[in-house]
Amino acid sequence: MTAQLLDGKAIAKQIQAELADQVAEFILNNAVVPKLAAVLVGENAASQVYIRNKRRACERVGIDSELYRLPENTAQETLLERIAKLNKDTSVSGILIQLPLPAQIEPHRVLDAINPWKDVDAFHPENVGRMTQGRPRFLPCTPHGVQQILHRYDIEVAGKHVVVLGRSDIVGKPLAIMLSQRTSALGAAAVNATVTLCHSRTQNLSAVTREADILVAAIGSAKSVTAEMVKPGAVVVDVGINRTARGLVGDVDFDAVRELASYITPVPGGVGPLTITMLLQNTLLAASLQM
Ligand code: NDP
Repeated sequence: MTAQLLDGKAIAKQIQAELADQVAEFILNNAVVPKLAAVLVGENAASQVYIRNKRRACERVGIDSELYRLPENTAQETLLERIAKLNKDTSVSGILIQLPLPAQIEPHRVLDAINPWKDVDAFHPENVGRMTQGRPRFLPCTPHGVQQILHRYDIEVAGKHVVVLGRSDIVGKPLAIMLSQRTSALGAAAVNATVTLCHSRTQNLSAVTREADILVAAIGSAKSVTAEMVKPGAVVVDVGINRTARGLVGDVDFDAVRELASYITPVPGGVGPLTITMLLQNTLLAASLQM
């Protein structure tokens, strides 16, 4: 069996076309243009690319964006002052602080300072708490992107055994929570999974991953998920983005795993475009919630 590709680029395009219509309607009804304020601290090369892509995507759907660049040696207080200004600025719908931050800045301190109604990355504890309780305001972009890909390819999650590799606060942990909820905006079939959350101290990892109907890799280690770790016919979602001498690769050994999976996401062109698209959706939602 050769897996069918889960084409994140195509799904992102489809959702962005829908969003462009919704943004146009929002502007017509409210005479307000949704706006994303993006804050970039330092010169991290990957972060600069991510920010550029996010701003271009905003432009494609009619959302305004503004970039606030701060030098690498920015003091935490200075960043907090910037956030306080953006919190108060009524023209700003959503605030994005590009991670990672330089070592002198404590990420929780900064993310906690964002107005939860403008928290389009959904990292504020209030939004994490709401999501955990199954009454989300904003959903975190990457896990939501994974959920959207599965949903748009009619891959039912309910009742399936989903194994998530990686327990970060940004990807693995929220995804595990989201997929095990009872209900979701995408319906009951997009949730209700039985989820196993794995990490670097999981024992006998291959035995666990081979039980997965749906295997999601979010560990940040190139080609670490080998064919031996995958049950034939499984759906494989690769969140990983690893920069190698041969360009970007995922956490999954794509060429080997695609020979036995039923569906697989490519890297690039899989989850990444959906992450950006869900940020746009959250920015429009933030603008609506502030009306
Ligand atoms: P983190 O480094 O924050 O977390 C990695 C997690 O993977 C940790 O929980 C770690 O375990 C676990 N882990 C590491 N190695 C192994 C292993 N060999 N077996 C099992 N578990 C392991 O990463 P992120 O969640 O932020 O990102 C993960 C990947 O996803 C990265 O490549 C990142 O670039 C990518 N990414 C992609 C996005 C997209 O839009 N496509 C968006 C965000 C991230 P422990 O907790 O024990 O240390």
